[in-house]
Amino acid sequence: MTEQEIRAVLAVAMAYDNRKPGEATVAAWAEAAHRGRWAFTDAVEAVHAHFAESTAWLMPGHVTQRLRAMRSGPAAMAELLALPAGQPTAPERVRSIVDAVAGRMGWVRAVADPAALGVLDQACPHCHAGPGRPCTREIARGRRRGELVALAAPHPSRSRDLAAAHTSTGPEWTP
Ligand SMILES: [Zn+2]
Repeated sequence: MTEQEIRAVLAVAMAYDNRKPGEATVAAWAEAAHRGRWAFTDAVEAVHAHFAESTAWLMPGHVTQRLRAMRSGPAAMAELLALPAGQPTAPERVRSIVDAVAGRMGWVRAVADPAALGVLDQACPHCHAGPGRPCTREIARGRRRGELVALAAPHPSRSRDLAAAHTSTGPEWTP
């Protein structure tokens, strides 16, 4: 699973128990996901299943156990969704699944959608567009050389920083 997928799984857990996963949590879960051979959609389903039935604080081991049980069952979630198990999922696919989860829970679109997160509320580390300003690029050639043009989508690093900020809120997690 990709780091983005790990964050999405943690975001689902966060919706249930208000945990504040930081970078160390993401790294630890990524390690557990690797060892337990998690697949993204199955892991999301396992988190939902856990909270539907258990009051225990969700640990990666709970997810691994549920995935094992699911794999020995009739049809794994990945098969139902026609996804290759164990393969990294396309970012768009991750987003659509998180959106579906959000809709199902009547919850925030906030976790995976940069627009909903307010990407433009902070300065861009790449092009240094200020808060509230769109990202820009400089025209390299021709008569308008040196002019700045606004981009339709913010630079990826702008939303990546923001996503990081949203998953590491406690001061103990600041590097
Ligand atoms: Zn930018």
